[in-house]
Amino acid sequence: MPKKDYYDILGISKDAPKDELKKAYRALAKKYHPDVSKDPGATEKFKEISEAYAVLSDDNKRMQYDNFGYSGIHQRYTQEDIFKDMFRDFDFNIFRGFGGGFEDIFNTFFRGRGFGGRREYSGPVSGEDLRYDMEITLENAAFGVEKTINVPRTERCRKCNGSGAESTKTCPACHGSGQIKNVRTHGYSQFVTITTCSRCRGNGNIVEKECEECSGKGFVERSRKISVKIPSGADDGTALRIPDEGYAGVRGGPSGDLYVVVHVKEHPVFTREGNNIIYELPISFAQAALGDEISVPTLKNNVKLKIPSGTQTHTTFRIKGKGIKNLRGYGKGDELVKVVVKTPEKLSERQKEILREFEGISKKGFLRKTLSAFF
Ligand SMILES: [Zn+2]
Ligand SMILES: [Zn+2]
Repeated sequence: MPKKDYYDILGISKDAPKDELKKAYRALAKKYHPDVSKDPGATEKFKEISEAYAVLSDDNKRMQYDNFGYSGIHQRYTQEDIFKDMFRDFDFNIFRGFGGGFEDIFNTFFRGRGFGGRREYSGPVSGEDLRYDMEITLENAAFGVEKTINVPRTERCRKCNGSGAESTKTCPACHGSGQIKNVRTHGYSQFVTITTCSRCRGNGNIVEKECEECSGKGFVERSRKISVKIPSGADDGTALRIPDEGYAGVRGGPSGDLYVVVHVKEHPVFTREGNNIIYELPISFAQAALGDEISVPTLKNNVKLKIPSGTQTHTTFRIKGKGIKNLRGYGKGDELVKVVVKTPEKLSERQKEILREFEGISKKGFLRKTLSAFF
């Protein structure tokens, strides 16, 4: 096996923090994405950098790699395992803007185009993975939510336990051995070739009567309610893997996984910037000049915010800890209140009078100061 250095592949140092790792991967993934790059070696390169990222972005795998190297990783994990974990709390934004997006990457890794894909194989085959797109509110994303979703999928037929047969009989082609022996004589030598029986696919038995419940398919289509826990801190594009809730496997193979991809709805009041939320607060000229205490909404309740006298428009105030919890469990964002001073559009005669008087006083003060600077 060729010795590959994941850090070299991504061009980062051994102690590079996660955001640097992600940045390096993002840049390289963009450059070598098979749908974008004209480089003939792009697909190979893309797989290589994705594998490096899949390992180094996972704390356990990174430790394993740092201690036992490339072969250590491959002894412990299958190629599919290496990539599956990448999707657990994966930032799918990395793949935005590419032709096929998520689906395409998914296919690249798990089916066909990627690592040899699934070979033509007569034994059990794992079921396909299933994707479900879920829309949630910003509050749901901030505090987490549990939702029940209805997932239409295939399930193993209970009547025939996935075999598709109500009754079976011994395969007439191989008489139950599952193998076909082919003997050729060449001079004094005999050449014996043993192949897997194509009629029963090596099983030794064939279907005598198809299962009525599933018409011989071994699975039935069924809609199932599944409870999904969205963790606090989820963001647009966060994907959750729910093991074994995908499509049924074939010939007794395990079920695929369900991937729930989160979409966060636009909030009427707040916008999100990472784990911070932004609130735009309109205040009057008088409030800005004299200062005020204003009740400001947060994701949970209202809090009092002190606006000091002499506040300029577009000043930002930070309300600590009122943002969104980090998805990985450490730290919490803040609420940033951006003050916008509104100039009044309609004024009464009395208001105008007061403002003119105010302006007069201000100008006199300004003039006095300027003159005293000269004389
Ligand atoms: Zn059946
Ligand atoms: Zn057979």
